[in-house]
Amino acid sequence: MDLMEYQAKELFAKHGVATTLGTVVTTPEEARTAAEEYGFCVVKAQVKAGGRGKAGGVKLAKTPDDAFEAASAILGMQIKGLTVNRVLVTPATPPVEEYYFSFLLDRSNRQYLCIASVEGGVEIEEVAKTNPDAVKQIPINPGTGVDADKAREIATEAKFPEAVFEQAVEMIESLYKVFVEEDATLVEVNPLARLEGDRLEALDGKVSLDDNASEVRHPDHEQFEIKDETDPLEAKAKAKGLNYVKLDGEVGIIGNGAGLVMSTLDVVAYAGEAHGGVKPANFLDIGGGANAEVMANGLDVILGDEQVKSVFVNVFGGITACDEVANGIKGALEILGDSATKPLVVRLDGNNVDKGRAILDELNHPLVTQVPTMDGAADKAAELANG
Ligand code: GDP
Ligand code: MN
Repeated sequence: MDLMEYQAKELFAKHGVATTLGTVVTTPEEARTAAEEYGFCVVKAQVKAGGRGKAGGVKLAKTPDDAFEAASAILGMQIKGLTVNRVLVTPATPPVEEYYFSFLLDRSNRQYLCIASVEGGVEIEEVAKTNPDAVKQIPINPGTGVDADKAREIATEAKFPEAVFEQAVEMIESLYKVFVEEDATLVEVNPLARLEGDRLEALDGKVSLDDNASEVRHPDHEQFEIKDETDPLEAKAKAKGLNYVKLDGEVGIIGNGAGLVMSTLDVVAYAGEAHGGVKPANFLDIGGGANAEVMANGLDVILGDEQVKSVFVNVFGGITACDEVANGIKGALEILGDSATKPLVVRLDGNNVDKGRAILDELNHPLVTQVPTMDGAADKAAELANG
């Protein structure tokens, strides 16, 4: 789960990282009220995307009326395709210098990585291109982590200025606590600002939490879920206990087993090239229990996606044999009735394949086409999506 800036800052504060929390509001009037308390303040769009500053989503406000105007302009704005529903109002603390700092999970090297630069500010990717020496990458051994000595080593390597060096060391230790104790996969501060009077403060925060840890280890992380910001199809799938991820294309996908579904996405994307460039519409792994209810739930979610033009059901029968899956499809079509409106291409293989195919042959449903191979079925589904 990716957090909004104000949520990231709450975690920062919890672990002793210097930051200013401010107030989150959803209307210009509330922004004015918050500004009456703060005086000179910043109004910042709260969306799960970077580059808000460049997009006009961060505005300074000298007076409460300015804050009202700024919030009016920012609320409802689109940033990278996301609508702004909330703004954060914080006292303005003009940065003298802006640094970049992050901890992240480096999966390929099976370690953590710290990235730090005293040339932070807006676009670290740009600095990395034009002046790669200014961006330090420091591997962290997860076994030993970041203690005071390691934090000092990082601050030295990153060349934090003398005047803020000790504060940087302390902040690095605290940010590492956020990273490890909250089971995050990313903790990023850009800008990590040097304010007047040589105070260091996290002016922005980006945190990604590991969902695999959240359920059991951090039930409190549930509070960060913002219902109205979640994709409605993903929310529906989650409520039904389905492993679903919305994608951009036209071919709905249902499969059993994450590996099979992943390769189905590839095969459909490839097949789509010959059919007007159609693409997979989603990832959906219905796992082992492909009974009628699970199948109906899966189809229900996928058919609710307006972009979907055809559905590819790709199942390799194992413990759940193909005849059970075929009965699942049959039952799902009965449950869905008239709400099933889009063509289904079904490829069954594996355990009890003959029985499974026979059940669907006998059903002879006008929406269902059986194709015996995965490539053939992908091609058919892409063709139908393009038609
Ligand atoms: P991003 O563009 O989405 O990363 O949003 P940021 O929070 O990083 O804001 C962009 C820029 O706005 C920063 O680089 C700062 O220069 C400025 N900014 C952000 N927060 C504050 C603040 O509290 N006070 C002041 N004076 N400037 C800020
Ligand atoms: Mn930023």
